Amino acid sequence: MRVAFLGLGIMGRSMAANLVKAGHEVAVWNRTPGKQVEGARVAATPAEAATGAEVVWMCVSDTQAVEQVLFGAEGVQNSLTSGMTVVDSSTISPSATQDFAQRLRSRGVDYVDAPVTGSKIGAENASLIFIVGGDEAVIERVKPLFDAMGKQVFRMGETGKGQAAKLVMNLQIALIFEGFAEALTLATKLGVNTEALISVVQASMIRSGVVDYKAPFILKRDFSPNFPLRLMHKDIHLALDAAREARVKLPGLETVEEVYDLASEEGHSDLDYAATLTLLEKWAGVEVKGNQN
Ligand code: NAP
Repeated sequence: MRVAFLGLGIMGRSMAANLVKAGHEVAVWNRTPGKQVEGARVAATPAEAATGAEVVWMCVSDTQAVEQVLFGAEGVQNSLTSGMTVVDSSTISPSATQDFAQRLRSRGVDYVDAPVTGSKIGAENASLIFIVGGDEAVIERVKPLFDAMGKQVFRMGETGKGQAAKLVMNLQIALIFEGFAEALTLATKLGVNTEALISVVQASMIRSGVVDYKAPFILKRDFSPNFPLRLMHKDIHLALDAAREARVKLPGLETVEEVYDLASEEGHSDLDYAATLTLLEKWAGVEVKGNQN
């Protein structure tokens, strides 16, 4: 298929590369010039990338970025053709998603929200899970693209439901990781060996994919971003906003938000969200260590 891929960050660059690998004709665009993907045409603007494309796929930071890419002066809106499909793999506001979809549908363009889970490694290995909202027939039409970048597609309902489901998934990741980080910090203070603790955690009913992914990085003290703290912080805000609109109280997430506020003040925004651990360590006066360090 002819695809415009917009946003070559941690996730987008590997996703676009996997589309090229699967034989699709790909044009890429990134706000900051200089990023490219081997085998893809580099476009100067979103509009230029979208010209002649059957599908426009976005993976940018946040709601404002998606709005700019779609409806800004050099945005996709200048190149829309009837029958085109726009897919958004950014994690953004569910209500803004419905608004964007409506504006595009009035111009004969289909819209699918398709945020992902699987992080940097999932994007690299084409093993992402897509959490999707939109019309079933449209989702089926872009299935070859989902297959090129991921391993599973879950349709959650109509437009916006993919984003809503993604937010509640990240709510859980933030809370699970915070629980893990607090456990590691207290365990270290109590003199429990970290690797022995992780082994028993993963053998028990507490076992978690979050721990599978994050533990090796923590043991190496590698806090380089797979999922930047600033983006998890954004998702916590999105979930709390959605909860306020729906009149739902989330005391756990509200507390975790404070940890992210403080971690951001400490200058950790561009590190992985696992760096929230370093704040707990600082408060406790310990450092969580693997057997090798
Ligand atoms: P990233 O590495 O920070 O990349 C963000 C991308 O968005 C960059 O290409 C950036 O362009 C672009 N961007 C930011 N503001 C923009 C604007 N106003 N207009 C146009 N482009 C803009 O982020 P990422 O990790 O790839 O994440 C992308 C999306 O996927 C986010 O919504 C994130 O929440 C979601 N996500 C990430 C992960 C993960 O583990 N990393 C997992 C699941 C979902 P520049 O290069 O110019 O800054």
